[in-house]
Amino acid sequence: MTAQELRRMYVEFFKERGHKEIASASLLPDNDPTVLFTTAGMHPLVPYLLGEKHPLGSRLADVQKCLRTCDIDEVGDDTHLTFFEMLGNWSLGDYFKEEAISLSYAFLTTKLQIPVSRIAVTVFKGEEEIPRDEEAARVWKEMGLKEEQIFYYGRDENWWGPAGQTGPCGPDTEIFYDTGKEPCGRDCSPSCSCGKYVEIWNNVFMQYSKEADGSYKPLPRKNVDTGMGLERALTILNGKDNVYETDLFIPVMDELKALSRVAYSEATKRTFRIICEHTRAMTFLLGDPKRITPSNTEQGYILRRLIRRAIRLLQKLGLKQNVLCELASVILAQYQEVYPELKENSSFVLEQLEKEYELFQKTLDSGLKKADHYLSLLQKDDILSGELAFKLYDTFGFPVEFTMELATEKGICVDIQGFEEKLKEHQNKSRKGAEGKFKGGLADNSLQTARLHTATHLLHGALRKVLGDSVYQRGSNITNDRLRFDFSFERKLTPEELQEITSIVNQAIAESIPVLCEEMTPERAKKEGAIGIFDNKYGERVKVYSIPGCSKEICGGPHAANTGELGHFEIVKEEASSAGVRRIKAVLTEGPNLTQL
Ligand code: ATP
Ligand code: MG
Repeated sequence: MTAQELRRMYVEFFKERGHKEIASASLLPDNDPTVLFTTAGMHPLVPYLLGEKHPLGSRLADVQKCLRTCDIDEVGDDTHLTFFEMLGNWSLGDYFKEEAISLSYAFLTTKLQIPVSRIAVTVFKGEEEIPRDEEAARVWKEMGLKEEQIFYYGRDENWWGPAGQTGPCGPDTEIFYDTGKEPCGRDCSPSCSCGKYVEIWNNVFMQYSKEADGSYKPLPRKNVDTGMGLERALTILNGKDNVYETDLFIPVMDELKALSRVAYSEATKRTFRIICEHTRAMTFLLGDPKRITPSNTEQGYILRRLIRRAIRLLQKLGLKQNVLCELASVILAQYQEVYPELKENSSFVLEQLEKEYELFQKTLDSGLKKADHYLSLLQKDDILSGELAFKLYDTFGFPVEFTMELATEKGICVDIQGFEEKLKEHQNKSRKGAEGKFKGGLADNSLQTARLHTATHLLHGALRKVLGDSVYQRGSNITNDRLRFDFSFERKLTPEELQEITSIVNQAIAESIPVLCEEMTPERAKKEGAIGIFDNKYGERVKVYSIPGCSKEICGGPHAANTGELGHFEIVKEEASSAGVRRIKAVLTEGPNLTQL
């Protein structure tokens, strides 16, 4: 099935059932200072969900362009994009749960022919004064889902809103596709990220109003808001396991493979994917009817970051000239029938990309030299000061995320809060650059120890995936030859569990994921969901190492720059360490993967 077939099939299905088709709104929201971009199909409809009358009636459907900057670190995995299209249908005080769920179910099983057995859904389990969503569960069962296909979660997973302090809110029911992969452990369920379940569609039921006193009142006029990811649905329908193998990405991926001087491989896959994803996002941003240009503030800054990150990654593929325009041309040609604004703005898109490339090119080489110099004075696991990161930003136009990527490749951390303070200072006062002081590092930074340390984080993440979130670190010891990891758990692990854990770690290694390092306050680390011990032994600032999709931990390092450097992971022993504590010893065999960029 092609993307266009799916878009039409979706909209026609709902039109046949009394819905009116509405056009995709701009990626840049109207009169909403709270967000930079349209992040979901419901966003342009907020006034109508709040009660305003929609000129086209109470049943609507559309395909909406969306952009989510919060998912940028995930880009390169199989399913997360910054730019994506969302298929949606709405009831504005018209039908409610029963009909909404039957519509979703009918579309999935009769139109898309997805077998019922491949569907899993999540339903709000009830919390505080809000009861469990029995109605949604009942309708799913009436549709033919078995109890074991229905999962119940709390507010974190199955609740929407209100958008502000007060207003409409309610439970949702999320629809997942069960890929048929083996469960990753006893607790494998749609909320786990092992890849067995892929979220494709969300139905939100706005049935309560949160009042100023914190209470919830039933809404007299209830709404339904749904959103299905076009790219994800298409991936599944074509039997693929990642969005880059759908017709939405094949042309641009092929073009990049043809242009690249570095071969496409497991180790370079992520770079290829990010370039193509960012190219598509920047093309849609520049081609938006509201036309934005790269700048140093707000939306323009996000656009600049996407462009500059892509340019640098292209350089890593040996492409020194501006091929961004060639890649963008592929996107423009491919999408202009569905999105006529891309046709109208195509020369604007290419002009702007050319301009931004030249602007960046002027300073990129000297900036990279400077950055290399700064980084060469540091050792693995040192910190690049906020001042220097700011200097690279100010003088050479390096977005801080970009500097972070450069630093990460050398296992160096960037003082991100220091950078932000500098930026504020700069915005408040006139520019005033101070020379940073370098910290000398005397730690034993042997490469193998660093690799084992990174493997420890992957192992910790894998243990939590397979055995559940109650697993936490009780001790860790690394020598040149092996890692030893103690963790809370009551019983001996089964051979299947050990196998599953090993393969999750090796999969992360195969994917060559960058190991990112940031410095921040413990409060912020906690807020960002980092695991680790939060106590004052860490002092004011902590380093947070993250391996997107696998782990995020407070830790002092040192680490490998990329999981691709780890070789092959093997558990050699699993035993009891003390009551309620298990111990795993593991090794890395095979040398570093030197094909790594
Ligand atoms: P996930 O937990 O997988 O990130 P989500 O809970 O953020 O998804 P929703 O906000 O409910 O997703 O969005 C509705 C649908 O939009 C999802 O079911 C999914 O199909 C799609 N979607 C969400 N985020 C992305 C993304 N970053 N890239 C591609 N599709 C997405
Ligand atoms: Mg999300």
